[in-house]
Amino acid sequence: MTDKWIMVLKAADAAARWHVHQRRKGAAAEPYINHLLEVATLVAEATRAKEPDLVIAALLHDAIEDQQVPRDVIANAFGDVVAELVEEVTDDKSLPKEARKQLQIKTAPYKSREAKILKLADKVSNLKAITASPPPDWSVRRRLEYVEWARAVAVGLKGASPMLEKQLEHAAEEAQRAAALSP
Ligand code: ZN
Repeated sequence: MTDKWIMVLKAADAAARWHVHQRRKGAAAEPYINHLLEVATLVAEATRAKEPDLVIAALLHDAIEDQQVPRDVIANAFGDVVAELVEEVTDDKSLPKEARKQLQIKTAPYKSREAKILKLADKVSNLKAITASPPPDWSVRRRLEYVEWARAVAVGLKGASPMLEKQLEHAAEEAQRAAALSP
């Protein structure tokens, strides 16, 4: 277990370096690492800190998709289980955005339990972000559409973590309320 703690910290360090120039899309443009740490924390809470590989994968979950970090680099540093999981939650960026979003809804029920937990935590973090700091160029309608889409993906993720499912529904309601109240 001790070496797993070290691995978790190494993953946080790698994530901070790989995403160093990336910012959240929200008006506050928070450093991307805060999103990764939030998702990792949600995952750790949901699994009572008993699944360090899942926490490591959470820290690295956007590394392939956003920074094109090769899968092998992740596998060599953090093991195959982690690399496999990161790959499982990575969208195929060669597809157009709308197709990727539909595919997420369609494939959600067939993901592994671990990938489902990670995806739920990711959506919770994203919903919180659009409540706290929505992208400045997003209309009310776009924000509401995002909430609906996140809920549609979550339907397929049911059963993996009742705690995160509850948090997702709460975050979705808050995001909806905030969108409706926005000027
Ligand atoms: Zn993410």
